Amino acid sequence: MAVLRTLGMIKPDAVAAGSTGAILAMIEAAGLRVVALRMTRLARAEAEAFYAVHSQRGFYGELCEFMSSGPIVAMVLEGPDAIVAWRTLMGPTDSTKAGPDTVRGRYGTSVSLNAVHGSDAPETAAIEIPFFFPVRELS
Ligand code: UDP
Ligand code: MG
Repeated sequence: MAVLRTLGMIKPDAVAAGSTGAILAMIEAAGLRVVALRMTRLARAEAEAFYAVHSQRGFYGELCEFMSSGPIVAMVLEGPDAIVAWRTLMGPTDSTKAGPDTVRGRYGTSVSLNAVHGSDAPETAAIEIPFFFPVRELS
């Protein structure tokens, strides 16, 4: 399995709920290495740019409103097959269908307010990682 990197985010719902530490503990317990980490906040236009791929979807406006509603924690995670490993730990998009051992199962509340983000493919990670982190922070 190739060692890969992926972009993870703890979304405003989970940061506001005080779940940041517990989610980071799940990530480290799963063997993913935190390469870079920052709490920040997305302006509405930045959320729109990050989720541009969904701009034609009915939930886009609500999604961008949510993602710019409060602080988020962005991170780069590394490990064997990290993109799939992190998405497996996250659980499915709909938190109500997510298992109890997944981040969304524990800390998400709906299909919209689902606690975390993860890149869905190597090409996506290659765009999403530099969205938040300059090369010099990735060591
Ligand atoms: N989303 C939503 N309603 C939907 C589908 C998605 O509000 O019916 C939101 C949700 O926050 C999700 C994000 O839009 O995480 C991006 O959707 P995507 O299909 O990429 O899901 P993900 O990759 O985050 O599992
Ligand atoms: Mg996605």
